Amino acid sequence: MTGPITHIIGAGMSGLSAAVSLIKTGHRVVVHESAGHAGGRCRSFHDEALGRRIDNGNHLLLGGNRAAHAYLKDIGAEASLTGPERAEFHFLDLKTAERWTVTLDAGFLPKAVFSKAGRVPGSRPLDYLKAFRLAWAGGETTVAQCLGPDNALFRRFWEPISVAILNTAAQEGAASLLSTVMRETLFRGQAACRPLIAKRGLSDSFVDPAVRFLEGRGADFRLNNRLRGLNIGDARVAGLDFGDGPAALDDGDTVVLAVPPPVAAGLLPGLEVPGEFRAIVNGHFRLERKIEGFSFLGLSGGLGQWLFVRGDVASVTVSAADDLAEEDNASIAGRLWADVALALGLGAVPLPPHRIVKEKRATFAQTPEQEKRRPGARTGLKNLFLAGDWTATGLPATIEGSIRSGRTAADLVLKT
Ligand SMILES: Cc1cc2nc3c(=O)[nH]c(=O)nc-3n(C[C@H](O)[C@H](O)[C@H](O)COP(=O)(O)OP(=O)(O)OC[C@H]3O[C@@H](n4cnc5c(N)ncnc54)[C@H](O)[C@@H]3O)c2cc1C
Repeated sequence: MTGPITHIIGAGMSGLSAAVSLIKTGHRVVVHESAGHAGGRCRSFHDEALGRRIDNGNHLLLGGNRAAHAYLKDIGAEASLTGPERAEFHFLDLKTAERWTVTLDAGFLPKAVFSKAGRVPGSRPLDYLKAFRLAWAGGETTVAQCLGPDNALFRRFWEPISVAILNTAAQEGAASLLSTVMRETLFRGQAACRPLIAKRGLSDSFVDPAVRFLEGRGADFRLNNRLRGLNIGDARVAGLDFGDGPAALDDGDTVVLAVPPPVAAGLLPGLEVPGEFRAIVNGHFRLERKIEGFSFLGLSGGLGQWLFVRGDVASVTVSAADDLAEEDNASIAGRLWADVALALGLGAVPLPPHRIVKEKRATFAQTPEQEKRRPGARTGLKNLFLAGDWTATGLPATIEGSIRSGRTAADLVLKT
């Protein structure tokens, strides 16, 4: 291959998405990743304690995540997601043992308003009409101001959904971001609301096929290759420094910086980025036997918020978990296992082999204030573009947002 090269820094979802978009057009791509593997915050790994390959954290997608689906199609992994045929979200209250299901189809609102059986336990018809407030949510409004906080629908549906999407408590999470997701899912019908998970694991769906696709088209992957500095001159990046002095770029070469916000700000002085983060804690537990036909369940009244089961591994997620992430792993494991055992009706079973994964900077804090600090993909340098779930995509920090950010950066490269 000849022609200008795009250097992509970071092989998370944003960098991989930029690389896939570029290489499809015949563009030359070199991917530089500081870790020994691709995937960033969305990856699988073999865990010794469990003797299983697990994901760093449970990831849920929705049918309406159109960029994610297009990406999977590009890399030949479109059949690697699974989920219920209908847009059904099942919930369990661990304190009261009440169960309810929210089905997000065209009948969602009429059923809830006109029939008690169609409503979340304890909710009132008027609570549902508050959903329309999301459409007009201003940039300063929080989810709780918009949809709650004093009603059962908020506590039993909006709050768990919004903390899962924004990884930020509803009391401080930006309603405008939840609004964008709802416009692309809830307001587009059942297929767009279908919850989906990776059948075998995140890397099997999003990472390994992408690496194969890219390498098969001549991309050069350089793992364990941390970018340490940008050599800037004449309003462009003139060289990249990976620790052994700046390597000069050719005239037409471009750079996509797809690294976390503090790293981008360190490399590009003066860049304003979100500076607050929220943790996600996941507990993975190996069960005595496989559970078939169970995919995921929303929990309330306990510590865990969402429970996923794949084969004989139950994984429970706690988002916006900064305080919990400070606790020691043994105590977290005990508390989360109590929720899992109750939810799966296992009785008093001793703590099985487990792994606690703390992602202390899982996403930036998706508050109205931090939202304003998200930069666009263009920088002041003509051959440098930004990608990342923290850039100004208008979407929450999700796989969908990352993939779109990578595509935006790739489009700008191609226009350069
Ligand atoms: C536990 C957890 C649960 C989540 N749940 C969901 C979910 O349910 N649904 C959903 O859609 N999203 C979810 N997300 C969010 C999703 O994982 C992220 O939005 C996405 O993975 C971010 O990708 P990224 O490429 O923007 O960033 P990253 O994944 O952070 O990628 C940045 C990459 O840059 C590399 N890097 C850093 N510095 C350098 C350097 N100097 N040189 C070279 N490389 C460097 C890093 O090693 C990393 O690989 C979750 C995230 C976590 C952590």
